Amino acid sequence: MQPKTVGIVVPVYNEEEAILAFHAQLRESLDVLPYRFTITYVNDGSADGTAAMLKQIQANDARVAVLELSRNFGHQAALSAGLDAAPGDYVISLDGDGQHPPTMIAEMLQLAEAGYDVVLTQRDDVGHVSAFKRSTARIFYNLINRMGDTQVLPGGADFRLLSRNALEALKGMQEYHRFLRGMVAWIGFRTVILPYQPPERLAGKSKYTLKKMFALARDAVFSFSLVPLYFGLSLGGLMLVLALLEMVYVISLWLRGAQASLEPGWSSLMFVILVTGGLLMILLGFIGVYIGYIFQEVKGRPVYIVRKAEPARSSAVPATPPADWEGE
Ligand code: UDP
Ligand code: MG
Repeated sequence: MQPKTVGIVVPVYNEEEAILAFHAQLRESLDVLPYRFTITYVNDGSADGTAAMLKQIQANDARVAVLELSRNFGHQAALSAGLDAAPGDYVISLDGDGQHPPTMIAEMLQLAEAGYDVVLTQRDDVGHVSAFKRSTARIFYNLINRMGDTQVLPGGADFRLLSRNALEALKGMQEYHRFLRGMVAWIGFRTVILPYQPPERLAGKSKYTLKKMFALARDAVFSFSLVPLYFGLSLGGLMLVLALLEMVYVISLWLRGAQASLEPGWSSLMFVILVTGGLLMILLGFIGVYIGYIFQEVKGRPVYIVRKAEPARSSAVPATPPADWEGE
C-alpha cells in the first residue's frame, strides 16, 4: 500500500542561529517514520541569513519546499501561508526554534491514524518558559475564554496536526485578523490534546516582541468576542442607574425641605463628568476597533504575499519502518 503523505509547516523569522540545528532534529524524527514527508519552510521576511540557510537545507534534503514571503507578515500569517500550500493527508505545524519537539510527531501521527482530525498540544509550564511569558499567557487565556464563545486551550501552541478534512475547513476561513488557535477550536472535529514540556530555544532570542504579543491578544479578543461592546453597554446602564439614584436622593431632600444641606457640589459634579466622559471614550474606542476590523475585512486584502516558491523535489519514504511502530 502507498504510504500516506504528511506536510510539515515551519514558519521562520530571523532564525539563522537555530534553523540548521532544528532541521537536523526534525530529520531525525521523520526519517524513522513510514510516511512521505514534505517540509514547507515559510521565510517570513527574515532580514538575516535565514534565506541562504534554507537554500542550503533545500539543496541537501529533497523533501524541503521554501516559501519566501515578500516581507514580515507575522507568525500567524506565515503559518497560514504554509498551511495553504502544504500537501498531505495530514499537516503538522511547528516552530523552527526547537521549542516544539519534533520527537512528538510520531505520537501525533498515531493519534491521527486512530481517527482524530485535530491533535493539539498543550504546553506544560514547568519547562523552560519565563515567568513573564507564563503569567502573560495565563491572563491572556483567562481573558479570551471568559469573553469569547470559542474556548481556547490554555497553554495551547501552534504545534498541531490537522487532517486534510480539518485543514480544508480551516482554509475556508478567509479572515484577515487571524488567531489560528481560536479558529482551529472553532472548526470543531474530533480533537485530542497532547501535553508537552517545551525545551529551551535551540539558539537565538524569541521573535515574539511585546508588540507582537499584544497584536495577537488584540486579534484574539476582537475577532472572537463581542463582549467588549456589551461591556460598554452595561457600564452605560450602570451609570444611568446611578444618575437615577442621585435624582431620587436630591428630590427626597427637597420634599423634606432640606435642600439647604446640598453642597454646591462642584467636585462631585466634575468627578461624574470625567467618569462619564472616560467611559464614553472607552466605549467609542471599542466600537472604533470593531469598525477598523470590519474595514480591513471589507478590503479583502491577502493575509500574506508570496515572493518566491521553491517546491520540494520529492517526498522520500524511509526504507523500513521501525519495529516498534504502532501506526497503520
Ligand atoms: N515567527 C515568524 N514571524 C514572526 C515572528 C515569529 O514566522 O513575525 C516564527 C519564529 O521564527 C518561530 C515561531 O514563529 O519559528 C515562534 O516564534 P518564537 O519562538 O520567537 O515565539 P515564542 O516561542 O517565544 O513564543
Ligand atoms: Mg519559540
